[in-house]
Amino acid sequence: MLNFKTINIIFIITFFSMILIESFASFSQLWYLIPLFIWLTILFIGSKNICSQFYTEVKCMSDDKSKILLTFDDGPHPEITPQILKVLKKHNQKAIFFCIGKNIEKYPEIAKQIIAEGHTIGNHSFSHSYFFDFFSTKKIIKELEKTNIIIEKLTGENCDIFRPPYGVTNPNIAKAVKILNLRVAGWNIRSLDTVKNKKQVLKRLKKAKPGDIVLFHDTKKDTPEILNDFLRLNQTKTK
Ligand SMILES: [Zn+2]
Repeated sequence: MLNFKTINIIFIITFFSMILIESFASFSQLWYLIPLFIWLTILFIGSKNICSQFYTEVKCMSDDKSKILLTFDDGPHPEITPQILKVLKKHNQKAIFFCIGKNIEKYPEIAKQIIAEGHTIGNHSFSHSYFFDFFSTKKIIKELEKTNIIIEKLTGENCDIFRPPYGVTNPNIAKAVKILNLRVAGWNIRSLDTVKNKKQVLKRLKKAKPGDIVLFHDTKKDTPEILNDFLRLNQTKTK
């Protein structure tokens, strides 16, 4: 399978083969830019596509093939998360909330409510910084450990599940999750509830089937209503 290690090996072999060929038949050194460009493009695509499994193993389908797995990122939010919880309760649904550590610190009561109502809290970094993907392994470990300690204090259980901010993976994130022995959670259906309107989101979610992992955000004002309609329309797929 094409992953970070294999692509590096292929690139090194190609590079040295070119050096060898150049010693027999000279060619413009600009030709070296071609494999370099291909290598960088593959690395970039591997980083952006969370389910590529390029840098680390990522769970993008649920183990439970009997229902759709609902996930909510970026909370807890003081207004939206309680509304989401209300909708989930109404439809008797359980979900995973990938919370940001600093938000849990700000709204611990909401995080406690998530747990009290039978849902799971996963680690979504401490800061959700725009520069998270540029952090060193050491800094990523610090962020993940800090958030895990906060979650564990609230839930009394070890948190071993992490969703990378922006769905981006890279070698440093891969090293950090390996050291901390965390499972990485992705999704296979992105609701796009942060950018699309209710009608567009519901249209996107039409394809959802049992076993899928759907990504929502408990930070957007339309999401509770979208969720309510989605659960109403998909009762057989979510129970
Ligand atoms: Zn996020």
